[in-house]
Amino acid sequence: MSTKSDPFKLENKVAVITGAARGIGAAIAESLAERGANVLITDVDEQAAKDTAQRLNDKGLKAFSKTHNVTIESEWAAVIAYAEKNIGPIDILVNNAGIETASLIANCEVQDFEKVMNVNVTGVFLGIKYAVKAMQPGGTSGKGGNIVNLSSVAGIIGTSGHIAYHASKGAVRTMTKAAAIECAQLGTQIRVNSIHPAIVQTQMGTSFIQDFVDLKLVPDYATAEAAIKAAHPMGKFGEPSDVANAVIYLASDAAKWVTGTELVLDGGYTAA
Ligand code: NAD
Repeated sequence: MSTKSDPFKLENKVAVITGAARGIGAAIAESLAERGANVLITDVDEQAAKDTAQRLNDKGLKAFSKTHNVTIESEWAAVIAYAEKNIGPIDILVNNAGIETASLIANCEVQDFEKVMNVNVTGVFLGIKYAVKAMQPGGTSGKGGNIVNLSSVAGIIGTSGHIAYHASKGAVRTMTKAAAIECAQLGTQIRVNSIHPAIVQTQMGTSFIQDFVDLKLVPDYATAEAAIKAAHPMGKFGEPSDVANAVIYLASDAAKWVTGTELVLDGGYTAA
């Protein structure tokens, strides 16, 4: 029998995943828990977060839930305190919660732009802030850790009709690098990385395709879907588990030399 230890293992790690009631976040929570982590599922949708945690508990996995709006600073303090009291010192934060809206630039209202920036940028900033405060030496958790931020290929390239979403995901990309450098230079033992998926099959993935129809850029959903799929050299969209697997890598010791990186998951979409 091999005695080599598994660098991907997450046994007894404590992980907080935001927006994890459904979609990519739920898949991340399940995958981390399957590798032995204790996961705290947070979401604005209280009942859905509870249901997802219960579904994982029913499979024998260690999952908890807490209502959480990532845009509210006091709720971040409450989430960290809840995790530390009920589960243990935090090792992993996945800033997954996000929203998208669609509008042509000339019609994009400031309130809509700010709403996206508030959830996708301020929410991630607050997550980084509270995770660093807790994980850094002398913090309430105090043993370093990992922060993984959900950006998107939209943080690297543009598309029509989504100016706010692109602005927000570009900010997540560079906030990640700024945090990674500061955390490394201060010797915090905290790594910070971002993940950049193309279309993933979730509620948001479907909405993103439908946006092109609603904005009258394409005649119907089937045409939009076929055009976007054709732009992916592998000819298919991602699955939530593809993103979850990337989080496992970044949050584990397998990535112990990786910080400030942008991990693109896109079936070759941005390689051309
Ligand atoms: P989704 O819409 O299916 O799920 C998002 C979850 O976030 C929901 O449970 C929602 O209730 C929660 N949420 C929304 N606002 C919140 C807030 N203020 N506070 C806490 N929770 C909140 O989306 P998804 O497809 O699972 O996307 C997850 C992340 O991945 C997002 O950051 C998204 O931008 C990113 N992403 C998605 C795709 C895709 O095609 N699906 C591609 C690239 C990146």
